[in-house]
Amino acid sequence: MDITTAEYIQRARNPRGAWGKARDWKKVYFDMKKFKEENPGLIEALEEISSWNSFAASLVQQFTQRGSLSEKQVGSAVAMLMKVAARKAERDNAPELDLSNIISMFSKAHEAIKTPKFRYEDLVISRAPDNGANAGALYVKVDGEYAGKVKEGKWFGIRTAPEGIINKLQEIAANPLESAVAYGRKTGNCACCGRELTRHDSIERGIGPICAERFGL
Ligand SMILES: [Zn+2]
Repeated sequence: MDITTAEYIQRARNPRGAWGKARDWKKVYFDMKKFKEENPGLIEALEEISSWNSFAASLVQQFTQRGSLSEKQVGSAVAMLMKVAARKAERDNAPELDLSNIISMFSKAHEAIKTPKFRYEDLVISRAPDNGANAGALYVKVDGEYAGKVKEGKWFGIRTAPEGIINKLQEIAANPLESAVAYGRKTGNCACCGRELTRHDSIERGIGPICAERFGL
């Protein structure tokens, strides 16, 4: 928001406006100008995200009232903006994969199981808790180590994630039942609950009958 002097006077004169409280509005105006010169682009960047970021919104509000922000606030604002930028870059760079079959399998399983899991080769996919920051996302571990997550249909692998993980996810997505059966036949355990397949027909089938139904396979 870059305001003109006329605009500022109009707002400052309105006692119900946010700036009506500022006693020395002229001082506030020059403080604002000075602050913007010293911190180029900072307020604009905060304004850009203040519709969904309450911390940014509160800083913008304080800035318009006081004409500046404290050094500590500037530090936190810069750190926060860097995080926002990093998350955006992460989203933009996330590979587009069609993982919809995995996502719908987990949605179905979630109707019966709080945190469903699915095993394939050395991968374990599990649904993130419903009340956390990653609600609805799927965590992927390789050999017990966290490797990344599927969120909003996209894959976010950590830097050290082993190669080939995307291919494995795509294999599961291409045919979840086939992947479950392959896992079951190879390990003798059910891909969904992890338990040993004991009944003859389950061993034959490669997946436990209850899990197959719960996971919609
Ligand atoms: Zn099972």
